[in-house]
Amino acid sequence: MTDTTVKFGLLVSMFQAMLRDRTAAKKRKRFRTFLDRVYTGREYFSAVRLILPGLDRERGTYGLKESTLATCVVDALGLAKDSPDALRLVNWRKGGARSGANAGNFALIAAEVLQRRQGMVSGGLTIRELNNLLDQLASTENRGEKAVILSSLIKKTNALEMKWILMIILKDLKLGISEKSIFHEFHPDAEDLFNVTCDLKLVCEKLKDHTQRQKKQDIEVGKPVRPQLAMRVGDATTAWKKLHGKHVVVECKFDGDRIQIHKNGEEIHFFSRNFLEHPEYAHGMSNVIVQNILVQRCILDGEMLVWDMATQHFAEFGSNQEIAKAAKEGLESNRQLCYIAFDILYVGDTSVIHQSLTERHSLLQKVVKPVKGRLEILVPDGGINDHRPPGQPFWSTVAYNVEDVERFFKDTIENRDEGIVLKDLGSKWEPGDRSGKWLKLKPDYIHAGSDLDVLIIGGYFGSGRRGGEVSQFLVGLAELSDHTSYPKRFISFCRVGSGLSNDELNALVAKLKPYFRKNEYPKRVPHFYEVTNNSKERPDVWIESPDKSIVISITSDIRTVKSEVFAAPYGLRFPRITRVRYDKPWYECLDVQSFIELVQSSNGN
Ligand code: ATP
Repeated sequence: MTDTTVKFGLLVSMFQAMLRDRTAAKKRKRFRTFLDRVYTGREYFSAVRLILPGLDRERGTYGLKESTLATCVVDALGLAKDSPDALRLVNWRKGGARSGANAGNFALIAAEVLQRRQGMVSGGLTIRELNNLLDQLASTENRGEKAVILSSLIKKTNALEMKWILMIILKDLKLGISEKSIFHEFHPDAEDLFNVTCDLKLVCEKLKDHTQRQKKQDIEVGKPVRPQLAMRVGDATTAWKKLHGKHVVVECKFDGDRIQIHKNGEEIHFFSRNFLEHPEYAHGMSNVIVQNILVQRCILDGEMLVWDMATQHFAEFGSNQEIAKAAKEGLESNRQLCYIAFDILYVGDTSVIHQSLTERHSLLQKVVKPVKGRLEILVPDGGINDHRPPGQPFWSTVAYNVEDVERFFKDTIENRDEGIVLKDLGSKWEPGDRSGKWLKLKPDYIHAGSDLDVLIIGGYFGSGRRGGEVSQFLVGLAELSDHTSYPKRFISFCRVGSGLSNDELNALVAKLKPYFRKNEYPKRVPHFYEVTNNSKERPDVWIESPDKSIVISITSDIRTVKSEVFAAPYGLRFPRITRVRYDKPWYECLDVQSFIELVQSSNGN
């Protein structure tokens, strides 16, 4: 038999049997049988890439998430857009009356629809044909062409086979067996080799004989290394216990794109967390890298972010692609890509992952010449810490006790960063590890669900166009004394500015202006309001008394760590004004107790 004759149906039989197997050991055995009896002597990669589709780098991405895949399948089947089957596919999350347990699983919903059209008879698709068609699917960006390819797949398969193909396209087979087990069954050295090369084809070719052990391979410039990941812990005490007796560094968890930079002379590669190449970063970054990395060859590990030169802050997550595109088109902007190297894996001709983090930090300092807001290094004693804007806490520091960790975490969160990462300064860098050698600590966020109606108690002046005009508000929650009278005190809650149009903001400020009282020296807080001693919270103007003020609705995620800046017990993340409630009297705004109950009920307490 040649490869062309192995039917995809045989792989599907293995998948189906694995679903029935109750233990991982049985599933592994089944995979071994497949390799030895069905696929023996063949090019393993052609089948393994279908079993571990998430690790296959030979094919580009399909650009098909469930929603686009749904419309392509609708077109492939020639369904009318408003037909019940088309609607079921497009609304796969809801499923509809007949879908029951399948709702939310696109491949299962699609299989139901296909069953009635395709039936049980397989069209005899081979593994080779499937790989060819999947290559074509990945190589076109045109939806119409994608639908045509899906349509030829549908012709050559039955509904069951098509279900598995859709799962392969979505890169999640839900077989109940880990990638680790598949690797270990394939060859005892497969996982290690994959972790340092991210090359499934190479693994399948090099490790054909599972009885033959291989020498451990180290990392190389030009081949992405599987990134070391962090394990989430609930609080600082747990994190500290896990790192008991270690020399610990705490770092800000930057919210950008994890990128590995491979430099070989003037050749620069940017590899993502999923080991895909990101050439779009080259325009904005390659020159900076070539000019400021002082060795010919190296691999850096870090985060790609956007630095806003006007605000002297990192931009919120999500603008990397836009800024990379602007750099490519040569557009002027206040924003630029900025790479923060938090580790170094290779220098000159040597892998340095086996050295301690402290040693790697000092290599980073020798190898990289930082450029403010462009190319930074994250080390506890210098690096980006030296470039921090006024008021910005350190981005990385050594922690000597749990209180240090707690303080760093609070400062980081108050600064609106995503969380922190804790690392053992004596540890090596471990490809693909996620067993808890790096720990991450993030606040819990819950969505408020409904809008929160809060009272404006102060205002902050804007800058630039809105200089000297109030552009943000300090809002408060009512403290209920008893239920028979109006609230007498308001607790500061958050600062909010965005969400209103210019006209809406101007109208609101105009209404409040007669009651603004400048917060001039000596700074006294009107007795209606309760605030903390934190100066970040002092507004430029107070509202002279709550009964003159206006209620606004805000929406936000709620951060379930105690806020240190504001007097209320929980913090908010990215609050936005949704509406001005001119219709709601000042005394009907949300009170502290109801807010706490709302947080606790959404939290499942
Ligand atoms: P999350 O979804 O919480 O952002 P994740 O699933 O992307 O996390 P994790 O392994 O949980 O990945 O967290 C590590 C990620 O955090 C890294 O992949 C990297 O992108 C990011 N990160 C930001 N700052 C750091 C840092 N200082 N050290 C290590 N990783 C960092």
